[in-house]
Amino acid sequence: MKWEENVRKVEPYVPGEQPQKVNVIKLNTNECPYPPAPGVRDKLQRLSTDRFRLYPDTSAGALAQALCEYYKISTEQLFIGVGSDDVLSMAFLTFFNSNKPVFFPDITYSFYDVWAQLYRIPYETKALDDDLRIKKEDYLAANGGIVIPNPNAPTGVFEDVDIMEEIIAANRDSVVIIDEAYVDFGGESCLKLIDKYDNLLVVQTFSKSRAMAGMRIGFAMGNPKLIGYLQDAKFSFNSYTMNTPSIELGAEAVKDAEYFKETIEKIVSTRERTKLKLKELGFSFPDSKGNFIFATHERIPAKEIFEALKEKNIFVRFWDKPRIGNYLRISIGTDEEMDILVENLKGMVK
Ligand code: PMP
Repeated sequence: MKWEENVRKVEPYVPGEQPQKVNVIKLNTNECPYPPAPGVRDKLQRLSTDRFRLYPDTSAGALAQALCEYYKISTEQLFIGVGSDDVLSMAFLTFFNSNKPVFFPDITYSFYDVWAQLYRIPYETKALDDDLRIKKEDYLAANGGIVIPNPNAPTGVFEDVDIMEEIIAANRDSVVIIDEAYVDFGGESCLKLIDKYDNLLVVQTFSKSRAMAGMRIGFAMGNPKLIGYLQDAKFSFNSYTMNTPSIELGAEAVKDAEYFKETIEKIVSTRERTKLKLKELGFSFPDSKGNFIFATHERIPAKEIFEALKEKNIFVRFWDKPRIGNYLRISIGTDEEMDILVENLKGMVK
C-alpha cells in the first residue's frame, strides 16, 4: 500500500499490565497502595453532574491555585497536563526542536525514546555507570536538550541537586527537563532552581505520591517564558485536555498536606523494611529513593521469579532488555502486601 510510505510510524511505549481480575497484588506500575486524601472522596460526592454539560476550565484554575499555594509559585510558572506523560510529551514537542541530539540515560523511563521517535527528535543515550548512576560529564557535550529523571526510573537512584545544578548550569543554551515523578519519596526537588535557571523545567505527577494515577494529573514548573512556550504548543494541540473532576479532585488532594506527608512516610518505611528482607533473601539493588526497588537475585534469573510471582497473582515489572534483563522492579505496596511478596519469594529462592 503506497500510503504507508507517508505514515508516521513509531514503536509505541508498552505500559505495565493493568490486570482486571480481583485479588491480585499489584506491584508493577508504582501506584500508591493507599487511597487519595479523604477530601477527594467528599468532593467527588458533592460534584454536580450538571457541570459536565460544560467544557472544563482550560486554565484548570482550582487545581492551579492549590498547586501555586503549595509550591509557592505563580500561575505563570505552572503548566498542568493530563498526567506527566502528557506534560513530558508536550515538553519534548516544544523544546526539543534542534538538529543536535537530546541526551538521556540509557537505563531510564522507556517513554523518552518513544517520544523522540514520534517527533523525529535526534537523541543519544548516555550509559549509566556500573552502579547505575549517571555520569555528569556525559551531559556536558553540545546537545539539543536533556531529560533526566531524579530519582531515576527504574533504578530508584537519586542524584544530589548540586549535580543536577551543574548539568543545568552547563547547558544554558538548551532546555533541561528534570522528571521528578518519584521525588516525594526521599529525594530533593530542583524546584528551588527555577528562578535561577530559565532553561530548567521540573515535572511532577499526582500518580504516585498523591495516589491519583487514575485521574491523570501532571504538572511542570519553570520560568514564565518557558511555561508560555509550553502553553502555546498545548493550546495549538488540544485546549480542553483536563476534565472537570480531575481539576476539582486534584485541588482537594493538594490541600491536605498532612495526609500527603503521612502517606509518604508509610511508603518510605515499608520500602526500607522491604529492602532488609530482600537482602536477606539474596537480592541486591541500588539504594532506591522511589516507591519501588530495582532488584536482582544472586542465583535465580529475574524472568523466572517474575513468572513464578505472576502464577501467584503477584505482579511486578520485568523488562527483557539489555543491561536490565536480570532485574525486577518491585513497587512498594502496603506492609501486608510486601509480607506476602517476601513469603512467596522465600519459597522461590531457597
Ligand atoms: N516519569 C516517570 C519517570 C515515570 O515512571 C512515570 C510513570 N510511568 C511517568 C513519568 C508518567 O506518569 P504519569 O503520566 O502517570 O504522571
